[in-house]
Amino acid sequence: MPKALKGMKDIIPQDAAMWQRFESASRGIFHTFGYREIRTPILEETALFVKSIGGETDIVTKEMFSFKDRGERDISMRPEGTAPIARAYLEAGFHNTEMFQKLYYIGPMFRAERPQAGRMRQFHQIGAEAIGSSHPALDAEVIALMAKILDGCGIKDYRIRVNSLGCAEDKKRLSKALKDDLSGKKVLLCDDCKTRIKVNPLRVMDCKKDSCRDAVRGAFRAIKLLCEGCVKHFDSVKARLDDIKVSYVTDQYIVRGLDYYTGTVFEVSHPALGAQDALGAGGRYDNLIKDLGGPEISATGFALGMERMLIAAGGGKFGEKPENRLAAYIATIGVEAERRGFEIVNALRVSGVKCDMDYEGKSLKAQMRSADKLGARFVIIIGEDELARDEVTLRDMESKEQVSVKLPDLVKRITGKIC
Ligand code: AMP
Repeated sequence: MPKALKGMKDIIPQDAAMWQRFESASRGIFHTFGYREIRTPILEETALFVKSIGGETDIVTKEMFSFKDRGERDISMRPEGTAPIARAYLEAGFHNTEMFQKLYYIGPMFRAERPQAGRMRQFHQIGAEAIGSSHPALDAEVIALMAKILDGCGIKDYRIRVNSLGCAEDKKRLSKALKDDLSGKKVLLCDDCKTRIKVNPLRVMDCKKDSCRDAVRGAFRAIKLLCEGCVKHFDSVKARLDDIKVSYVTDQYIVRGLDYYTGTVFEVSHPALGAQDALGAGGRYDNLIKDLGGPEISATGFALGMERMLIAAGGGKFGEKPENRLAAYIATIGVEAERRGFEIVNALRVSGVKCDMDYEGKSLKAQMRSADKLGARFVIIIGEDELARDEVTLRDMESKEQVSVKLPDLVKRITGKIC
């Protein structure tokens, strides 16, 4: 039997209910904050990600699903949402028309990582990008928005950590200082980090190995990180977060691995997640639009991982959404009744009544069981007697009351009770 690919999962209806809840809660919050939805294609030119995320990052070197298309072009499945949205922003010409854009997305991302708990090859992100301003209030807004979404999805006990990487100059200085310091301590570093200090020293700070972490912390103590302007900006971001009562801690070891990040960066973690404890992350990327060939335009954003949000919310067994339940189930006895039932089910649907019927030739008892399982409020029973009288029997599954109803009254009867 064919199976889903490793690290890729079906979302079957029982589970989809929870996904729908997260999606609709998030959409509502995005709209409250003035963000509009953007949907970009799953496939992009590989060069987009190399240019934006960075040719030396794990995502680009090891994790992208990349291939040649039929025209021999290098294509990749999107591993994240920011670069495609920056591309779409420029392609739509927003930089010439409405430079300030607050955008959100919900959708699948693809990374060929080793699958484990909370790490999939196809996973889903809820994210936002606010493009067109370097105002510290916007940094605070996206962090507050991320927190609101977690609250809205019923996730508690998450922890937000913020830091500033500084401007491109600060990053360069930090990178050089780290390289100088750590080059003398190579014995403490893992093989990956030995390579990192050569090609992208900042990435050493992302390493989870204890000895690398200790070495980095030691190196850090000696480095003055931010220029005056960046200190001021970051102080202002934190003051705004305090003003609107968003809880966070400052953690100078938060660095985002992707090249495009500058200035404020942040991560949100959750104790239920174990080793992969990041629920989401984000930050400022003031140079990305320019690096992609556009003008100098500041931006910030975040992405939350939906699979990890489900774990943090406690496994996601919340059951079917009440609005997905059937209003009525039509149970029939005999061929003629089934034919009349089919007519009724379609007439009810035209009137907007959520209803269904049996297509498996089940007994009346089994049909009643199906109605119960589907959460139907009413069962419409049609047998020989009902056919002869041109009526149906309407059973209220809550009160167990059963009445005969003429067909023209049926819709009114049902909608009157459920609205
Ligand atoms: P990143 O862009 O790597 O910072 O990812 C942002 C968020 O997406 C993470 O905090 C995770 O919640 C989620 N995420 C990233 N990679 C994966 C993955 N392979 N499987 C599941 N979730 C992921």
